[in-house]
Amino acid sequence: MELHNRVKRVIGLVAVGILLVPAFSFLLGSSASGLESNKTIYLTFDDGPHPIFTPLLLALLDENGAKATFFPIGSRLEERWGNDDLQALLNRGHAIGNHSWNHRDLSKEKEIGTKFQLDQSSVITEKMVGFRPSCFRAPFGEKNQYVLETASSLGMKHIGWTVDPQEWNDTSIEEAMNHIVKRFAGGAIVLLHDRRFLTLPIVREILRTFPSDKWSYETLPDCRNDEEKNLRLSTRTAGDVPIGKVVDIKKVESTNIFTGWGYDPDHPEGGLKVFIGGRNDQESISIETDSQHNFKLEITDLEIDAPVCLWLKNEGLSRHNTFIGCHNAHK
Ligand SMILES: [Zn+2]
Repeated sequence: MELHNRVKRVIGLVAVGILLVPAFSFLLGSSASGLESNKTIYLTFDDGPHPIFTPLLLALLDENGAKATFFPIGSRLEERWGNDDLQALLNRGHAIGNHSWNHRDLSKEKEIGTKFQLDQSSVITEKMVGFRPSCFRAPFGEKNQYVLETASSLGMKHIGWTVDPQEWNDTSIEEAMNHIVKRFAGGAIVLLHDRRFLTLPIVREILRTFPSDKWSYETLPDCRNDEEKNLRLSTRTAGDVPIGKVVDIKKVESTNIFTGWGYDPDHPEGGLKVFIGGRNDQESISIETDSQHNFKLEITDLEIDAPVCLWLKNEGLSRHNTFIGCHNAHK
């Protein structure tokens, strides 16, 4: 199964490489070189999950060590993804919000309909990963006071966007990039959709034009959950694959310190192996989690020229190791 998973990942990366056309370096111009002090970008993806495009997108983000926030449609989440899939998205360091149960225009719904649309979507998320989203995005961006109040009563803040390249409307990649380049700045929230193939070449072009070693692609602060670790732990039972997350990366002199957590329900006492894998397969570098399931991995003499990809060892090997994402170290 581990091999199967890796093969799927490699196929995903190859497919993204083959399918996407590199063509837009000419758009770099002065926008990207006019550096802002705040270099954080928030990529957001609505309307997923898609059985093919979402995994390809996740592979593309990992290739660049980029994090993003996903606003899946609740009913699609239930139909298309199991608990492990949504846990895997969180394992990689992404965040999740609420985008209603089946994409109704909430500003036109009756009050009971709005409440159902928002609540039911959070219910399915909580069932899968142990917590309800703390943020939501109204379908079509359409909201009124009642929608905002209902969301607030369910513990969610509304998230809009500042950049909309209109790929949902079948724009060309060139038009989309022209739109993005003009509006790209620290703090930008970019509206994209993981149900579209077109989104993949646009994201590839964004990451080429605004590379992740100069710009920081992060999850939206309002969508993060401080209690994520404990809430997710509570959803795991014996036989489940491990879960975990890299929480912070610090640089102290010439050492990068990766801190995070990892949990295997078959070994609740801790001692779970965390190791580096991926492009260079440096599996010799590894560390174990402590009794609180936390880890601290220090990388000193590695020549880090690509995102660092981390895994949790599934000792039982009844299923597969757990991928906890690729992350950009500090230079
Ligand atoms: Zn939508």
